[in-house]
Amino acid sequence: MGRLSELLKQLTDISQTPDIQLKKYLGQGKKVIGCFPPYVPEELAAAAGMVPMGIWGSGLEPVRAKAYLPSFCCPIMHSSLEMGLDGTVKGLSAVMIPALCDALRCITQNWKVGVKEIPVIPVTYPQNRKKAGLEFLESEYHLILKKLEEIAGREVEKTALEETLDLYNRHSKVMMDFAETANQHLDIITPFVRHAVMKSAWFMEKAEHLELVKEVTEELRKRDPIVWKGKKVVLTGILAEPAELLAILEECHIAVVGDDLAQESRQYRTPIPDGRDGIERLAEQWGQRNCSLIHDTGKRRIIQMREAAENTGATGVIVCMMKFCDPEEYDAPLIGKLMGNSDISVLNLEIDQQAGSMEQLRTRIETFAEMI
Ligand code: SF4
Repeated sequence: MGRLSELLKQLTDISQTPDIQLKKYLGQGKKVIGCFPPYVPEELAAAAGMVPMGIWGSGLEPVRAKAYLPSFCCPIMHSSLEMGLDGTVKGLSAVMIPALCDALRCITQNWKVGVKEIPVIPVTYPQNRKKAGLEFLESEYHLILKKLEEIAGREVEKTALEETLDLYNRHSKVMMDFAETANQHLDIITPFVRHAVMKSAWFMEKAEHLELVKEVTEELRKRDPIVWKGKKVVLTGILAEPAELLAILEECHIAVVGDDLAQESRQYRTPIPDGRDGIERLAEQWGQRNCSLIHDTGKRRIIQMREAAENTGATGVIVCMMKFCDPEEYDAPLIGKLMGNSDISVLNLEIDQQAGSMEQLRTRIETFAEMI
């Protein structure tokens, strides 16, 4: 097996088995902090010597969580709560949950009641991202840091936080480099492989993940670029799952050449800026992020998405609309409107991580592939 295949297999395996990663880190005596989507200040946990680990739901059919959540709550929160209730994430020292939408706000309370052995650290983000909002966020981050320091049993030195932020910035750059290089090798970096490389970042320590993805990009660069004869699309949404969805794209010869997914590029495209200190820098980063969950009257993310499609030769945008996700639904008509004057077609797909059948999606994607 060549080195590239080896690396991609390793990252794919990790993306599919976060439970094994959790056990591995716990076995090494490390403390692990669960990070709910889409944003929490995981850098603070890493600077305190702990392992931040993403909780992004699963294909698990919720049973216990139904007693806590209404049926019209999104599947990702149903399955994430289920993972707490059924012991899948047992051993976490705490979970950080951002109160960014109605579902997440409820989960901060549901988790507290249902999963008593894993404490919750709620993260309140301001939608006012001007001076007063960012000052509030700094005070919020100071409180969170204090809680994390108590769990870690040590104080975070200023230099440790700065080094961690530097690591996260380098990691983000490596991820964006990978995404760009992958577009020259769409025969190898299929939609599923691209997703696996991106998703695996949530279940590994950043320094380790950075080295692996950097090596993947180097291996790709050793190969001659290929001319992709199929269709190209950009994905947007919270996440693009389950895996069967990505397999259908591949079957229809559709390559993913960019994304505006909360689980993927939205994490990496906004570097942590320079500033007075680590906490202020993280707050400033919040001020600069573009996301459906963050108030932005200019809707820069949709403009960026159109530019990404135009720059990569994509002829379609697929909106991976998480079932019952209000913040994403509010933006959906705008995506159609802002793409309206271009040659880029838009397909809206309803995403359900626990979907039993994919046949409706298959028919819609097959038709879209013929149109674009
Ligand atoms: S943002 Fe959407 S997908 Fe995420 S928790 Fe809220 S409703 Fe669910």
